[in-house]
Amino acid sequence: MHKIVLASGNPGKIREIQAILANHPIVPQSEFNVADAEETGATFVENAILKARNAALHCNLPAIADDSGLVVDALGGAPGVISARYAGVGASDRDNLDKLLRELEGVPDELRTARFICVMVFMEHANDPCPVIAQGVWEGRILDHAIGENGFGYDPVFWVPEQNCASAELPAAVKNSLSHRAQALKTLTALIKAKETA
Ligand code: IMP
Repeated sequence: MHKIVLASGNPGKIREIQAILANHPIVPQSEFNVADAEETGATFVENAILKARNAALHCNLPAIADDSGLVVDALGGAPGVISARYAGVGASDRDNLDKLLRELEGVPDELRTARFICVMVFMEHANDPCPVIAQGVWEGRILDHAIGENGFGYDPVFWVPEQNCASAELPAAVKNSLSHRAQALKTLTALIKAKETA
């Protein structure tokens, strides 16, 4: 079966995708020395397509890419596509999370609704006019202080109602079965398989 290049060097993501798409070898773009695409899109889907197109172009292979972030209702959708650099380019997870808590100071609990979004796309080649697109959504609320040691990014301030705890308190296996990324990956792999058998 065809190799698929993954526009990410994250070993966790590679393992997860490889486990589901078992009959396609998944190779990280770092094996081809591909420079990261610039994330200039205004939406998750645009950025995921930019990343997949960049990987497909430089590796001459079908590509999978994802883009994710946190969307907070009381902030008009911010931090959104700039989640990784909310407090500025090079900001740490802690800087971003502290900025989020400052921006939400005084906002009551019921208005602190938020969700993690992950968009994953598959492109057969760089000029593919019809990318396969899947979106995962994980609903929650933003706490007024950080709790928990697991995960990364905004996990310590993301309250997960169905588990009654912060995302950073969840064991990795539980988070990985519920998260926006898990949902997007499941949908994307089902869509790729359906396309192959169509
Ligand atoms: P990217 O998809 O690698 O561009 O990541 C975007 C940013 O969104 C990350 O740097 C985090 O700040 C945030 N983010 C995405 N997914 C998660 C998550 O599962 N937990 C916490 N933060 C996340």
